[in-house]
Amino acid sequence: MSDIDSTTVTAPQRILMGPGPSDVDPRVLAALSAPTVGHLDPYFLQVMDELQSMLRQVFRTENELTLAVSGTGSAGMEACVVNLIEPGDRMLIGVNGVFGTRMADVAGRAGAEVTTIERPFGEVFDADEVAAAIEQTQPKVVGLVHAETSTGALQPIEEISKVVHDAGALLLLDTVTSLGGLPVEVDGWQVDAVYSGTQKCLSCPPGLAPVSFSPAALGAMDARKTKVASWYLDMSMVRNYWGGNRAYHHTAPINMNYALHEALRLVLAEGLENRFARHRRNHLALRAGLEALGIHYAVPEVHRLPQLNAVLIPDGVDDAAVRKQLLNEFGLEIGGGLGPMAGKTWRIGLMGAASTNRNVLLLLAGLERCLADQGISVDRGAGVAAANGVYAAQA
Ligand SMILES: *Cc1c(COP(=O)(O)O)cnc(C)c1O
Repeated sequence: MSDIDSTTVTAPQRILMGPGPSDVDPRVLAALSAPTVGHLDPYFLQVMDELQSMLRQVFRTENELTLAVSGTGSAGMEACVVNLIEPGDRMLIGVNGVFGTRMADVAGRAGAEVTTIERPFGEVFDADEVAAAIEQTQPKVVGLVHAETSTGALQPIEEISKVVHDAGALLLLDTVTSLGGLPVEVDGWQVDAVYSGTQKCLSCPPGLAPVSFSPAALGAMDARKTKVASWYLDMSMVRNYWGGNRAYHHTAPINMNYALHEALRLVLAEGLENRFARHRRNHLALRAGLEALGIHYAVPEVHRLPQLNAVLIPDGVDDAAVRKQLLNEFGLEIGGGLGPMAGKTWRIGLMGAASTNRNVLLLLAGLERCLADQGISVDRGAGVAAANGVYAAQA
């Protein structure tokens, strides 16, 4: 009957040290394979309630409207934008990498009058320049990326948030790469709309986008004169399923929600502060090892992300050949550069479950092998020794 010669899926066991997805804990994969129940089954409603409560803890917010959008991080971005923006609304967006560029594209499609302020890749914005742009454009919403995965730069938020709120605007923040790896203080920083993704520092497979909206953001949604441009992402309907009268809107990806539930449970069992410290410790060890191999960062030290190490590819090294060798010989994935950084940087992720001393040491050993094969002379063992020195000093 069958002329389809297919085999069962046998995915290789990789170590994911790129810009995401990151390694997934076996307990999260096990949760994915639990029996699928109905989207209105009392058991699933309980999973949703617990998931919302854990998301509030991870986002550090009391926002009632906190849930997981069905879709990846970009769906979270789109959900935040389309629910806050009506055609003709003004939006100011900070663009210093690929994801700020994407946010501006999404906002333009939603009918926003978009103004961007720009910084070269690797740099971040300061409060004064955001204040000046707000004064000029009087936006309804200001959008920023907290952790720019394309460049490895961390955008400080607190001061800018004051400037945004002094002007009566709403603050929208991309925390796709920061959530679970660095402090994200949704209430403390007064972020009005925030989205994230599951596959970066939460270490869950890709497929859901945690979001949260402040009371001020809810006010803006309630004051809309037009329907939300996306039926699927319209929070006025989605929220009735996650709370309220549990009205069917779309079938939730049941098993992905199990997986996120388990991933969040693991995050909270470790403790947020412990988790941030682990990300920092492994970053410092990796940094010492890379520097010992003669590899330098593309971002000034003060703005570096511990979970996404963007480094300059040494002169004369074949970018693609090294990444291929790491994958084939060591089972290790690292990322290439995005946008204008393509061919110039490697992006080494130390996200969530992948942020371990074992991975740091393996990558440094593997990279030394690859650089030697590229004819680059490195001190033998220097990278691993330097990283071990950092671990020993912290022990
Ligand atoms: C990965 C990422 C996104 C997009 O998420 P997808 O899950 O790929 O849709 C958005 N913003 C940032 C900062 C990211 O790192």
